[in-house]
Amino acid sequence: MPGSTAHRNTTTRDRHRAAIRRGKPPCALCGEDIDYTLPHLDPGQFVVDHIIPLARGGSDELDNKQPAHRECNRLKSDKTDAEMAKAAQQAGPRVFVTDRTW
Ligand SMILES: [Zn+2]
Repeated sequence: MPGSTAHRNTTTRDRHRAAIRRGKPPCALCGEDIDYTLPHLDPGQFVVDHIIPLARGGSDELDNKQPAHRECNRLKSDKTDAEMAKAAQQAGPRVFVTDRTW
């Protein structure tokens, strides 16, 4: 029984994070540069975004990862780009009539 792989995921994530950070690429969500010196929890901090969220069955491999600002990643939440566009479409024409007078 393999017992040496317990910390594999964390190590892999650190390696992927370092690999992305090395090239200092811009944010994949908004296209703006990322300041890689910003402290932890700063809205502009570099975070690793999953192109297809893990919660949606995306992989934890490097090819499913891209750089993003913490704030951009937060706004994206667990939606894919296609789902965000769909959600925006649905939100548009939707009207709630709440002015009942009785
Ligand atoms: Zn961004």
